Formats: sequence, structure tokens, C-alpha cells
Amino acid sequence: MDQPHRNQGYPLQLLYSPERIQTEIARLAKEINASYEGRELLVIVVLKGALFFAADLLRLVTVPVRMDLVKLSSYAGTESCGTVRLTKDLEFEVAGKDVLVVEDIVDTGLTLVYLLDLLKQRGAGTLRVCTLIDKTERRQAEVTADFVGFHCQGGFLVGYGLDLDERMRELPAIYQMIQDHDGEI
Ligand code: 5GP
Repeated sequence: MDQPHRNQGYPLQLLYSPERIQTEIARLAKEINASYEGRELLVIVVLKGALFFAADLLRLVTVPVRMDLVKLSSYAGTESCGTVRLTKDLEFEVAGKDVLVVEDIVDTGLTLVYLLDLLKQRGAGTLRVCTLIDKTERRQAEVTADFVGFHCQGGFLVGYGLDLDERMRELPAIYQMIQDHDGEI
């Protein structure tokens, strides 16, 4: 296992290297290409965390794609406050479309359930979810992703788009934050 190191003052343990991330993304793209052959996809990228993931994934998707962005908020620091808000709405109509939501992490599932309900209300034709990371341990809402990069136990992750208070998104790998001896991250 790689040695823990500090970045911007925080102790981090490498979880997924850039190479591992790209291997899983190539697999996901293959699955998506096979599932949507002959159709056009409306991909909804959930900002900001899924931005890096979506950029790499969509470059390997061979079916025609239109992309839209949505922003939802429920987190402050490392804790979800449980109430989801839509802070940036979609540009495109979803009615009748083959919609694929691209998420960074499904954790409690509350954010995803909120978004899926909204897309259903707006009449999405088909609705599926691709997430880079599925953290099933803390799931509160009954929701499953259709395409999953990594299944992960828990812990707070940063890097490759994932932030701690807007920092560390730019790290090329995904790291788990390690608790200091006083229990603080
Ligand atoms: P949920 O509503 O499923 O609990 O949380 C979904 C969102 O919370 C994710 O899209 C992600 O933005 C954020 N999130 C959940 N777990 C983590 C984590 O380990 N690290 C970071 N940076 N964000 C997380």
C-alpha cells in the first residue's frame, strides 16, 4: 500500500491511481456504448464533482451525445446536511429523451433520488445512472446506479474532481482522507 502523505495540510492515502481510474472508465464507456447502440444520449453531468469523470468518460463514448449540466447541493465540509437543493438547472428538455446521469459518488443516495424524481417529473424517456464511485455502506435512499466504476466502503474521498471545501479537485488520483490522532480530518 502507498505511504500516506499530506496535501495542503491534510493526510491522504492513495485509493485509486490515475491508471486504475482510466481502466474503469474505459470499461464503463464500453458498457454504455453497448447499451445505447443506435440511440442518442442526453448526458446530465452533476457538477462539480463529476466534471473530470464526465470529460474522460464522454471522450470514449461512441454513440451521439448531447450534454447538459446540473448542480445540486447538500454537503458542507465532509458531512451531508440531508436537504438537497437545485442550484443550477438544466438547459435542455428531457421529455422523451434517453437520459444518462453522470455522478461522481452515490453515498446516502439522497442527492440522486432528488435528481431522478425531478427528471421523472419532467418526462425523461429512459433514465439511467453512471457513477464513478458507489458507497453502498451509508445508503439511506433506495437507489441503485446502472453503471458503476468503483464500489467503495466509506471514508471521505478527494481528488479527480472530488473536493473538500472546494480544494483538492485538481489531484489526478483519488485519495481517502485519513483521520489525525485527535480524530479530526
Ligand atoms: P449523497 O446525497 O449520495 O449522500 O451524496 C452525493 C454527493 O455528495 C456526491 O455527488 C458528492 O458530491 C458528495 N460526496 C459524497 N461522498 C463524498 C466523498 O467521499 N468525497 C467528496 N468529496 N464528496 C462526496
